[in-house]
Amino acid sequence: MDIHTAYLSIGSNMGDREDNLRKAIKILQDNDDIEVTGCANIYETEPVGYDDQPYFLNTCLELKTTLDPYSLLKVCQKIESDLHRVRLIKNGPRTIDLDILLYDDLISDDPILTIPHPRMYERAFVLYPLKDIMDYKGKIPEDKSVKLIDKPYI
Ligand code: ADP
Ligand code: MG
Repeated sequence: MDIHTAYLSIGSNMGDREDNLRKAIKILQDNDDIEVTGCANIYETEPVGYDDQPYFLNTCLELKTTLDPYSLLKVCQKIESDLHRVRLIKNGPRTIDLDILLYDDLISDDPILTIPHPRMYERAFVLYPLKDIMDYKGKIPEDKSVKLIDKPYI
């Protein structure tokens, strides 16, 4: 079976944010079809899109996986539901959000799974951690509200 490389963005701004990130990483590590091969530093970031909510913790992960992109999305969405994410407000607070940023060099414009993630290039809270774990050649918007606060959790 082919082994693919994927990059995820994960974020939390409800409940115990650190615990939520750690739990999501653990579930991914426990999945037989996934190896978590990289974890970025942890950043505290100002909410984007909907202001009246707590700050996020964000990081990025590198995965090696035999899963196809849609199966990986399903795994991400199951983690979101297992960690009791409820969708109330668009861009609103959430216990955990997992987005697939990149999957090999795949390009997909399916709204169910758009890769590269359509908003990743404008989001400092995605690109700061991503550059920790990959050789990112693109431009990174400066954003003073993205603060490095912790070392990688794994
Ligand atoms: P957001 O991450 O934009 O705040 P959600 O997490 O609620 O919003 O995701 C909304 C929808 O985005 C999901 O139902 C999913 O099918 C879709 N989606 C499209 N591309 C991606 C991607 N690359 N990673 C994760 N979800 C994606
Ligand atoms: Mg999402």
